[in-house]
Amino acid sequence: MTLSTEYERLSLPLEHAFTISRSTQTTADNVVVRIEDDEGNVGVGGAAPSKHYGETADTVEAVMPDLLDVVESVDDPHALARIEREMKETVNRNPAARCAVSIALHDLVAKRADLPLYRYWGLDPEDTLETSFTIGIDTTEVMREKTAEAVEAGYNTLKVKVGTDRDGEIVGAIRDEAPDATIRVDANQAWSPREAVGKIEVLAEYDVEFVEQPIPAENPDGMRFVRERSALPIAADESCITLEDIPRIAGQADIANLKLMKCGGLREAMRMIHTAKAHGMEVMLGCMIESNASIAAACHLAPLLDYADLDGSLLLSEDEYEGVPMPNGSIGLKTGRPGTGVQKQ
Ligand SMILES: [Mg+2]
Repeated sequence: MTLSTEYERLSLPLEHAFTISRSTQTTADNVVVRIEDDEGNVGVGGAAPSKHYGETADTVEAVMPDLLDVVESVDDPHALARIEREMKETVNRNPAARCAVSIALHDLVAKRADLPLYRYWGLDPEDTLETSFTIGIDTTEVMREKTAEAVEAGYNTLKVKVGTDRDGEIVGAIRDEAPDATIRVDANQAWSPREAVGKIEVLAEYDVEFVEQPIPAENPDGMRFVRERSALPIAADESCITLEDIPRIAGQADIANLKLMKCGGLREAMRMIHTAKAHGMEVMLGCMIESNASIAAACHLAPLLDYADLDGSLLLSEDEYEGVPMPNGSIGLKTGRPGTGVQKQ
């Protein structure tokens, strides 16, 4: 077989400027990889690099030729374990870059089998989930307006970014605007341990589902301190990057928040899901701001998850790829095309 490969950079404009406790962005630079077999099947995968984890579109483009050399030299898309292992030996860091290739290969092999990826994996499409829709930090009034828009668009689960000096006010306003919604919050490491315990007590009054990464990942004892005193379940995101982190965060968090772009591929994500469950944790799959070139693949893991936060493409004002449909936020696997379901709009 002869596999041919190519990649291109996409600059994706966001619908609204996206602010979290540490940063604001108005565009997302993704890199899309295509891998074609000699029968004309094309696998597509995206990298959504995050500066927080040391990657940019430039670093993805810099290592991509080496990663695609691995794919071309193995020359068998079904050798997923070998290719992922050899990619990691070639480029140990750069998880988003490796992830784009992992996704493109999974899309390709499922297309070769003429099956949607979840069926290639043998998963039950009835066990799907609803994604949350994220409300970024802004003035309380604008956050209230964004909430009204999200509710109007049919989203029932909202993830609210906090880490300001008015977190209680924000969540109170959002609860007021969306009385029936499930609300989860994400502090992106903004609080100190004692501050977190106090804030969580206030947030619990607004029927919040859980709190993501209340304090810095570098403070595992602080995470444990917060969890022991928290009125709400705690999710670990910045503390939970690769498989090796799972045993470390057991006891610090109730929920492991995985992201494909942190862990470097679909096989690693699957290992993390099972390991987290073995450590008594629930599992959420989150995302960066991403095109459907990568979100589509993440959707196929939904039957293995407890929570989904896969709104990366929903936050874009345009995405040249369409993926798995999400009517009212519900991840619709059943109607799927072969592979991840990704296709050019
Ligand atoms: Mg987070």
